Amino acid sequence: MSIADHETTTLDELAARLDGELVRPGDRAYDEARAVWNGMIDLRPAAVARASTTEDVRAVIETARTTGLPLAIRGGGHNVAGFGTIDGGLVLDLSRIRHVDVDAAGGKVRVGGGATLGELDAATQEHGLVVPAGVVSETGIGGLTLSGGIGWVRRKWGLSADNLVGATVVTAAGEVLEVTAGSDPDLLWGLRGGGGNFGVVTELVFDAHALGPEVAFLYAVYPLASVRHVLAEHERIVDAAGDELSTIAVLGHVPPIDDFPAAIHEAPYVAVLGMYAGPADEGEEALRPLRELGELLADFSGPMPYLDAQKVYDPDYPAGHRYYWKSTNLDSLTPEVVDVLRERTLAAPSKHSTIDVWLNGGAIARVDEADTAFRGRATRYVVNPEGNWEHPDHDDANVAWARSVLSELEPHATGGAYLNFPGFLEEGDELVRASHGSNYARLAALKARLDPENLFRRNANIEPAAE
Ligand SMILES: Cc1cc2nc3c(=O)[nH]c(=O)nc-3n(C[C@H](O)[C@H](O)[C@H](O)COP(=O)(O)OP(=O)(O)OC[C@H]3O[C@@H](n4cnc5c(N)ncnc54)[C@H](O)[C@@H]3O)c2cc1C
Repeated sequence: MSIADHETTTLDELAARLDGELVRPGDRAYDEARAVWNGMIDLRPAAVARASTTEDVRAVIETARTTGLPLAIRGGGHNVAGFGTIDGGLVLDLSRIRHVDVDAAGGKVRVGGGATLGELDAATQEHGLVVPAGVVSETGIGGLTLSGGIGWVRRKWGLSADNLVGATVVTAAGEVLEVTAGSDPDLLWGLRGGGGNFGVVTELVFDAHALGPEVAFLYAVYPLASVRHVLAEHERIVDAAGDELSTIAVLGHVPPIDDFPAAIHEAPYVAVLGMYAGPADEGEEALRPLRELGELLADFSGPMPYLDAQKVYDPDYPAGHRYYWKSTNLDSLTPEVVDVLRERTLAAPSKHSTIDVWLNGGAIARVDEADTAFRGRATRYVVNPEGNWEHPDHDDANVAWARSVLSELEPHATGGAYLNFPGFLEEGDELVRASHGSNYARLAALKARLDPENLFRRNANIEPAAE
């Protein structure tokens, strides 16, 4: 029997074992099942297993182990590098494991490993609660949390990973572990920033916080010509405002949509967006100075439902468009850095592309670097060039642009990257090591304990430490 025949038989057996569904080439659902969010990623797995239960997850892991088929784990499918799929291998798609159970009295939320941020937000807001997550509601909570998770309340309540207090993990050996700080402090440490390296997380347990239903939201758009002033004042005002205020400064071109007057369509801008994690009226006052930095192109700021604020960016990131992102860490926005940001924004081959400047600090920076696997807590600015475009003919120009932003920022960068953003491809191992820095050795030891054969390697991969 050839290896291929053997695999086919094993996949037949897997299909029979699953409560969920196994989708294979030739099946009607195959193209839909193999697609991930980034249209640049066009891979053809041997099978996509849509798992419905923890037992399904165990069956898929066992099949990958016994056949040797390479395995990809998919939560929300939003990884920019396409880690949620794989050519010729087995995809474990968790999107049917998407429950959100809120224990309002205990302030805890249990979330399926394939749930999206939108599902998490909708369920928690029914109880006036939030779990810190990201800024686009279709993103998966699994991938986002395991590598950190930064969003609109990060300076107040930290990373998503900082709020992760427990998890159900299926290991490479097929063991099901209920992980808490008491049961396995080392693994909980690793899940807080070490990515999908240690097993498949079928359930995440979070601490929740009271916020909403209405919050003060900031969305002030200035001409790019004022970028030096806007970015300098932005830093000064956010520092003075305290942890309730979390912001992102975005450089780009005004989209040609009805929300903006036609006269400014495609005008280069610098926008400051943010949320106040506290009473909306108090927030309105705290945000006001950031709306008064000079002549505005537009201002969409104001009180709004938390659920709407969590979706402000959704229309900018349709599934199936082409994306190539990078990420770098900076300590300060010197005039030289701002010149690079402005000049590269103007040079972007796609008007959909942006450079996003996340000002961190607050609760993120108050946790010691060694206390969780996530590293880079002292990083003041996470800067992400996002190449966003539609047509394959423009791939080369847009990929080159994103890389050029990074290479021009390189002399000013502090090293490593926030591993949830890069479209990877070329850096791989070196970037992962640099980003985890002094935490890498402990991560490698944990990997050797839980996944010595590196079954879970389609990710920001940690190499198992040698015996
Ligand atoms: C439009 C958009 C907006 C974004 N906004 C933010 C943001 O505001 N803040 C932020 O921090 N990041 C943001 N990101 C980055 C995002 O956190 C990463 O892309 C992340 O990988 C997405 O997780 P996912 O589950 O959707 O990805 P997937 O592609 O499904 O999974 C990526 C990898 O995560 C791991 N993984 C996922 N789920 C599990 C699980 N349950 N168990 C084990 N491993 C798992 C696997 O290694 C998998 O290969 C954004 C990305 C996009 C595309």
